[in-house]
Amino acid sequence: MIGLRMNLHTHLEGWLRPATARELAHANGVPSPPQGWEAALRMPSAGTLTDYLAHVAAAYPVLGHAGALTRVTREAVEDAAADGTAFLELRAGPTTHVRAGLSLDAVVDAMCAGLAEGVLGTGMPAVLVLAVLREFDEEAALEVVESAIRHQDVGVVGVDLAGDEARYPDLRRYAKAFARARSAGLGVTAHAAEAADASAARQAHELLGVHRIGHGSRVVLDPEELSWAVDNGLCFEVCPTSNVLTGAVGTLAEHPLAPMLAAGARVVLGDDDPVTTGAPLSHERRLVTEGMGLDRGRLQAMSDAALDVAFCSDAVRRSLREAGAG
Ligand SMILES: [Zn+2]
Repeated sequence: MIGLRMNLHTHLEGWLRPATARELAHANGVPSPPQGWEAALRMPSAGTLTDYLAHVAAAYPVLGHAGALTRVTREAVEDAAADGTAFLELRAGPTTHVRAGLSLDAVVDAMCAGLAEGVLGTGMPAVLVLAVLREFDEEAALEVVESAIRHQDVGVVGVDLAGDEARYPDLRRYAKAFARARSAGLGVTAHAAEAADASAARQAHELLGVHRIGHGSRVVLDPEELSWAVDNGLCFEVCPTSNVLTGAVGTLAEHPLAPMLAAGARVVLGDDDPVTTGAPLSHERRLVTEGMGLDRGRLQAMSDAALDVAFCSDAVRRSLREAGAG
């Protein structure tokens, strides 16, 4: 195996097993989608980011219970371990799952409980990153960060910015929340330049203080922005299959991964939403070598970069490095 399988970009909501969705829906009186759970959760072919997010959102109706969130988080850790993952950074947007009787902290408590169960059962190190969602306001962003801070000792290690970049491109309204997260020692990352233009990655760095950029597919469209990103050490979290399905790139052949690497950018791999895409990390790793023609050295370099930028403790990083070297 070339390098450790480090999954640094994947969303809990995109891990819901269709069979689990069926059981949870049955148990909680949630109507099943007319086309069935498999078709509702899985994006069948390339479309837009908005279409893609609708498939991810098909999971939401069954996730509005603490028990469901704990189970789905545990199963995500189990499925990642079964896929050969060495380290999992699982991100989730807790605001989406708040309901009457299920507060933001209760949502995060439930996810942390599932994470702990999964880690205990599999022995695989896994952590949680809470996503601030663009669809919600500045107040909601701050609440997510405060909840992340309260859960730092039970598995939450960072904050992300996610949601529909095409509809909500303005990053300024999340600046205060991200400053608070950084001051508390949380890792920060943001989806940017996926649907908005190339300069969104630089803006995310300048306004939110992130060094990690989710996707950033459009940065290669502007050589000046790409070279700025390389000079400033930005790291792109790339998920090839998802990028094609969301329409961020036209085809795999046009994927920006190779030009990013050729320009000297740091890149790590993720699988974004493996149930939505049908492509877990093991598939994405095969895809970059067999489908996109990158050599094994590139795969190793992405794994090494992931070891450098992962949001984990020094002890976990050390033990992963030893495992990678061994
Ligand atoms: Zn993502």
